[in-house]
Amino acid sequence: MAAQYRNDRAYVAKREALKRQARKTGAPCHLCGKPFDYELDWKHPMAFTADHIDAVGNGGSMTGALKPAHRSCNSRRGKKALEGIKALQAPKTSRKW
Ligand SMILES: [Zn+2]
Repeated sequence: MAAQYRNDRAYVAKREALKRQARKTGAPCHLCGKPFDYELDWKHPMAFTADHIDAVGNGGSMTGALKPAHRSCNSRRGKKALEGIKALQAPKTSRKW
């Protein structure tokens, strides 16, 4: 599927851009708040991944908004809506959303 292929390319470009930016700014995982170790193998549970804010499995776009997340945090979240995760965490800041 040509369209899907183009989507994948766009996604990879977006993910790499996010990674570069997160590395530069020291942005933490948006799910657990812990920093990334960029030297880790990509298969490592604490490795950098780009998490879709709108899970693709829930109809979100493959090239939709991304946030940095650990591999284990990302897969633990799965298709759950972000609100579900936020509810599990103690709110650290006053609401920003
Ligand atoms: Zn994490």
